[in-house]
Amino acid sequence: MISLAEAQQIVIGGCEPVAPVLVDCQLMSGRVVAQDVVATEFIPPFANTAVDGFAVRAQDATTAGVELEVLGVIGAGHVAEYVVGPGQAARIMTGAPMPMGADAVVMIEDTIELTPTRVRINKAAKVGDAVRKIGEDVRAGDVVFKSGEVINSAGIGVLAGINARRVLSYPKLRVAMLSTGDELVIDGSDLKPGQIRESNLTMLAAMIEAAGCEVINLGIVADDQAVLENKLREVAANCDAIVTSGGVGQGDFDVVKIVLSQIAEMNWMQMAIKPAKPFAFGKLKTTDKRVIPIFGLPGNPVSSMISFELLARPSLRKMMGHTKNLARPTVRAIVDAPMKRKQDGKIHFMRVFGEFADDGRLHVRDTGPQGSHQLAATAQANGLAMVPDGNGLAVGSEVDVMLLA
Ligand code: AMP
Ligand code: MG
Repeated sequence: MISLAEAQQIVIGGCEPVAPVLVDCQLMSGRVVAQDVVATEFIPPFANTAVDGFAVRAQDATTAGVELEVLGVIGAGHVAEYVVGPGQAARIMTGAPMPMGADAVVMIEDTIELTPTRVRINKAAKVGDAVRKIGEDVRAGDVVFKSGEVINSAGIGVLAGINARRVLSYPKLRVAMLSTGDELVIDGSDLKPGQIRESNLTMLAAMIEAAGCEVINLGIVADDQAVLENKLREVAANCDAIVTSGGVGQGDFDVVKIVLSQIAEMNWMQMAIKPAKPFAFGKLKTTDKRVIPIFGLPGNPVSSMISFELLARPSLRKMMGHTKNLARPTVRAIVDAPMKRKQDGKIHFMRVFGEFADDGRLHVRDTGPQGSHQLAATAQANGLAMVPDGNGLAVGSEVDVMLLA
């Protein structure tokens, strides 16, 4: 057995970022920029008012109570053609450009409109009051995002705001997945004796998509070496990574194992964790000279889910240019229900539900039966408690929890 850290070194360390491409800024949510993004425009592009009110010359309104002549109304998107001179003002709406001559805005609540052309200013104004300056948010020439940074929703707004319509970034990975096992039924037909429903592909498709990738679902692959080999070679030409489910345990001689060993450089691992002890990682050379990683997940659904989380997801993120937070964040939490286990040289990943309590700490308890075939309790979990080797943890002790949501 190897440690999880060693396995992660082999798997995550064995994956490299794919070649960057130009990506439409609208599709950049959660994606990494591959080159500094330099603004070529200012936000805001001109001085404008932050409030609805009256644009004035501050020197005309140094005390409350002055009366000014109103030259007109300026709405957002419209430019005044007049100049605000001594004793004059312009009614102005949020976002509208400041008229020439004016240098402050008094909000509407601090004014009284005496007639459509006359206003009383009830509050003294200072130069710059309620005026948003040009470039106050972003200046042309600013590096708004550094290479390697992740764009969030606000980031997309910034890209749109500076008219960065396409950004050098990493493409969505196309991840092919397949399942193996004579017992699996995927088409909704009645179960015959010995059969079970296929559940991993549906779960993994959701996980792959949530990781920011595109899924190519190959379904259940037949027990035929030639068929499988052709299918893998064919999909390799059109994908960036392959995920398989099932048949990676010790002493399992199913076709996936045989075929993968023949066509790819494989590393069959046994990790000191529970569940998800077996894992296979390989590299497949494509005809166009790319190297496609293959993640061979165990078939037990909980093992599949946890090994995807610990090894495949961080690798896929790395391939999409992420350098930080490859794995989910881990926090120290308080154990609220005993975490029983026996000493076996492994870290146990217990499915837990955690909530922040009045003490400001995350408190966790297990979500139910912890067998590697028992996905129902995993569906209730929002974290994985890493219970260290030993005899378990008592109520009140601390444990590291990987946050799933
Ligand atoms: P394996 O890793 O192929 O030895 O399978 C381990 C266990 O997981 C067996 O009980 C299988 O029936 C089950 N299993 C394998 N693949 C799937 C799947 N895709 N969906 C649900 N259960 C599976
Ligand atoms: Mg199997």
